[in-house]
Amino acid sequence: MASAETVIKPDFGTTRKHFIFEEHHDRLRESIRAFVEKELAPHADEWEETTFPDSVIRRMGELGFLGLSMPEAYGGQGGDYFCNIVLAEEMGRSNSGGLTMGVAVHTDMAMPPIHLFGSEEQKREWLVPAIKGERILCLGITEPDAGSDVAGVKTRAVRDGDEYVINGSKTYITNGHRADVIVLVTKTGDAGNYDDFTLFLVPMDSPGVIREKKLEKLGMHASDTALLAFQDVRVPASAMLGEEGKGFYHIMWELQGERLIGAAGCVAGAQRCFDRTLEYALERTAFGRPIGKFQAIRHKFADMATKIEAGRQMVYSTAWRFANGEYPVREISMAKLFTAQMACEVTDECLQIHGGAGYMREYGIERAWRDMRLNRIGAGTDEIMLDVIGRSYGL
Ligand SMILES: Cc1cc2nc3c(=O)[nH]c(=O)nc-3n(C[C@H](O)[C@H](O)[C@H](O)COP(=O)(O)OP(=O)(O)OC[C@H]3O[C@@H](n4cnc5c(N)ncnc54)[C@H](O)[C@@H]3O)c2cc1C
Repeated sequence: MASAETVIKPDFGTTRKHFIFEEHHDRLRESIRAFVEKELAPHADEWEETTFPDSVIRRMGELGFLGLSMPEAYGGQGGDYFCNIVLAEEMGRSNSGGLTMGVAVHTDMAMPPIHLFGSEEQKREWLVPAIKGERILCLGITEPDAGSDVAGVKTRAVRDGDEYVINGSKTYITNGHRADVIVLVTKTGDAGNYDDFTLFLVPMDSPGVIREKKLEKLGMHASDTALLAFQDVRVPASAMLGEEGKGFYHIMWELQGERLIGAAGCVAGAQRCFDRTLEYALERTAFGRPIGKFQAIRHKFADMATKIEAGRQMVYSTAWRFANGEYPVREISMAKLFTAQMACEVTDECLQIHGGAGYMREYGIERAWRDMRLNRIGAGTDEIMLDVIGRSYGL
């Protein structure tokens, strides 16, 4: 029988999982975690210098991690959307934001539009080998003169008989140097509205595709980021992905999944940084006691934990709505905005709690701090998220 004492005892150590997850998600989590800790995390430092090797994608394909929610008919695991959340969370244990991002571009940014809008032929040609890890994907939206303003895209695709001729450029393209194919946003019309855009699947070895340069950046060093040029690139009309004139809507749909997966990654990344910093705060002493025992530091942890938990609940409840057929653009934008800001704040506080050690490479906190910063910019900036949320109220 429960005594008053046991009934009111705070359950700090509970490991009860959130209701969106079932037993099979736990098993998946365990196997991804084992793989990430054994085969990826030990290479995190090396891949900061070299970028991660393509063999990571092949290996993840062999293990069945690349098409977790893709149909079995195409070699996927036939799981639900929550499996992708598990992958995004566990990849954080690689201690490499660049690697996590490179894999996510493949699995959760470029792959979903091929699955949803692709013809049977396109799925056989690109989706099946992408799930196996034999082909690598990238996604080309951003251009030197069009980032937040996607409708400002200038890359042109002009029909010429049975082909389209593509001219233009794309920048900041993750996986751009290693990818076999790009999901490319082009302009095909001149009506001056959202019906002017069309997606194409362009093989990266097509004549006229030029991988101009590897861009150097603040963080995410394990990923490659490309400036690409398209000069009279010819693709057959069958390379069109989805409907002509519907590319803008297709890519806006893609961005919702990308933002939610990014938000899950932010929560996981913040949690990881928190855990490592908690360990440090219990070990490191100053003025005769562990620094975590100072009220100023204890309150930082309390504040971080509260915000991480709030972010986690936003991600899970929004994922639940998304997985159950809703298109919760407002909530996805809120989750993306909140978790990105929260994760940047958390990594910054964690660096502060580490003191000088936080500034040193060997502790890995400075890398988390640098890598995390991208989340307030990529896949839609904070300002764009605020605008989407504000407009959703008719403003
Ligand atoms: C490392 C990295 C990897 C990336 N990977 C990819 C990729 O794989 N594929 C891809 O297509 N893109 C990729 N991107 C591009 C990324 O999505 C864009 O950088 C982002 O959408 C912002 O666009 P921009 O850089 O052109 O900024 P801009 O649009 O020029 O914005 C500059 C500033 O103005 C603000 N601003 C713009 N419009 C408004 C407005 N209406 N109201 C208020 N403020 C506004 C922005 O919030 C921002 O602060 C990547 C970027 C980076 C840095």
